[in-house]
Amino acid sequence: MSGRTDSARAITVTVTFFADLRRFLPRGADGPQRYSLSGNATIADLLAVIGIKPDADVTAAVDGELADRETVLHEGADVMLLSPMEGGAMERFGYWNKILHVNLTDRSTRIEEPGDAFFRRYAGGRGLIAHYLLKYVPKGADPLGPDNILVIAPGVITGAPVPGAGRHSVGAKSPLTGGFGESESGGYWGAELKRAGWDAIVFHGVSPTPVYLWINEGRVEFRDASHLWGKITGEVEDLILAELGDKLIRIAQIGPAGENLVRYACIANELNEVAGRTGMGAVMGSKRLKAIAVRGKTPVRIADQRGLLAVAKWVSGTMDEKHRAFHEFGTGAAMQGKSLEGGMPVLNYRLGAADTIAKVDAIAVRDQVRVKMGACYACSVRCKKVVHIEEREEAARAAAETVYKGRAKVAFDPLGRYSVDPRYGGPEYESLAALGVNLGLEDLIAICKSNEMCNYLAMDTVSLGCTLAWAMECFEKGILTLEDTGGVPLRFHDADGVIKLVEMIAYRRGVGDLLAEGSQRAAQRLGRGSEALLTTVKGMEMAMHDPRHMPVMRASYLLAPTGGDHMRQTSNRNGLRNQIGLCHFLAYEDDQSLQILRTVTGWDITPEEMVTTAHRGLTLARLFNLREGMSRADDRLPARFSDPLPKHAGLTRAQQDKIVTDYYVEQGWDAQTGVPTAETIRALELEADAVYAR
Ligand code: SF4
Repeated sequence: MSGRTDSARAITVTVTFFADLRRFLPRGADGPQRYSLSGNATIADLLAVIGIKPDADVTAAVDGELADRETVLHEGADVMLLSPMEGGAMERFGYWNKILHVNLTDRSTRIEEPGDAFFRRYAGGRGLIAHYLLKYVPKGADPLGPDNILVIAPGVITGAPVPGAGRHSVGAKSPLTGGFGESESGGYWGAELKRAGWDAIVFHGVSPTPVYLWINEGRVEFRDASHLWGKITGEVEDLILAELGDKLIRIAQIGPAGENLVRYACIANELNEVAGRTGMGAVMGSKRLKAIAVRGKTPVRIADQRGLLAVAKWVSGTMDEKHRAFHEFGTGAAMQGKSLEGGMPVLNYRLGAADTIAKVDAIAVRDQVRVKMGACYACSVRCKKVVHIEEREEAARAAAETVYKGRAKVAFDPLGRYSVDPRYGGPEYESLAALGVNLGLEDLIAICKSNEMCNYLAMDTVSLGCTLAWAMECFEKGILTLEDTGGVPLRFHDADGVIKLVEMIAYRRGVGDLLAEGSQRAAQRLGRGSEALLTTVKGMEMAMHDPRHMPVMRASYLLAPTGGDHMRQTSNRNGLRNQIGLCHFLAYEDDQSLQILRTVTGWDITPEEMVTTAHRGLTLARLFNLREGMSRADDRLPARFSDPLPKHAGLTRAQQDKIVTDYYVEQGWDAQTGVPTAETIRALELEADAVYAR
């Protein structure tokens, strides 16, 4: 974009549009935008370039400081344009006190206003999900039956104008683990839901026919989705946007995998962000809920906008020092180092290194197939890879000229096999590893293709990749034969074979039907010693961080309420982020998270209360898992991780037991059984929730 560039000292500034000001975004654009201006340009000049009238009711901030129309901009300035209500003096800040309950069976809705104490106690996300799961899901309920609920819960800071505050959590009883299911997603959808005036949605029952929900501010409408059922996510997004006639609508949806109850189906929003883990897409599919379209125009109210802007200013001011590598590569830049250290998952976690790693890491993605980086709501870090690949060279050249105006090179597949649509983003580290090196692949184009397919079919790349790795090792060892697979070979190093299998799983065709159950259920069905090759905890496939190499991951895998989860879900710090809606990749220290929480909500929250809030969420999830039959025996790594890697020792039972016991004690749970003690329940004020845990 270019503005007044008559001065030799032209500058470039980055502008983030909040709330309804997004209507000023250039056509088809999203996230922060760059503008070129003359060297002495002011905010007024910038508004003129964007097309905003000088007297429009718009608040501006430059590098985290409130700015007036005469403020002179400088090279690299970080400009925020906010609606006037952001920062307005209202009694309640950060949340609305409005939970939407949707009964899909009889297509009715009700609004719950649980009060301020409720939000301070649960803070959104995990806390709120666990509270509702205990309350509404009967013990022993079928995760894919009508008694399960689906909760979508942003946090109390989601939608605030500060980097990292764009996240929402999705929860239900997991069809993969049979226990506490939860997954988080970034992008814009959660912030949009908050701006529509809702703190969470709880879906009950099952719709008799396919349906989608249209939330337009306070109005909620059930709409027929028969014509969308069976379609991939991109087609569904196009159809809903055309139907509702507003391009600023945000859509969360399932793909064919969720409709077909693939146990690790995910929920995608904006086509390239997913609540990936624990099979939340299958729960949504079991409810015949195809999509949730949201449009919100009311900015989240902030108690202390100046204080919040100071945090945003810290992010832009420390970009080089704290976030540059992330901004440059996204996740996956350190794969070569990880391989050198012998900690990469390779061929179903058997090797710690791959000679081919440089062909498939984030550096290779940047150099070969990436066209740009994308961002989540309000985030200046912009760490999301976007790849674009055409089947043919001519098409790639044409796309570079027409779509990117020569500013990006578009890749092509020299073998003429695959194209990859940039609408579906690009592979994060987990996908590069799970769909790549752990399957013995060095074909970056095929890896990008299978990642794109997982986004448009809406499946978790980690569980899918690990299930394939397990099946391939079974095949290699003769445990699975061509007779079992209907003649389909399941071989490591077979990139084109993986592409075929991704589709077979999403549609449950042939051997895909078995693999759609996840590796643990498939192993139980198959037997023949295949259980020994699993890489699951509590039924969920482990992410791509080997606990033999990374001690910090051990407690996470052993004790995360969701199973094989690498996000250190066991720590109070990360637990809190999952509750309030804050991205894990922002390098905030705990006091900065506290400052965000305080300035958004106006709560006089202390560091101790912040820890208690996270602790409460983890304890609630533990109560749910215990009620559903889990025990200490489930807090264990699979046998594979007792085997040594070439550079790392295996983990003994005694080592694992010590980590588990120490954690139980730290959390105030019984040291032997992991049952939260009566004293802990009282201290966390969870007596009412504990009634539902029996
Ligand atoms: S750091 Fe990356 S993932 Fe996190 S909010 Fe920013 S753009 Fe999104």
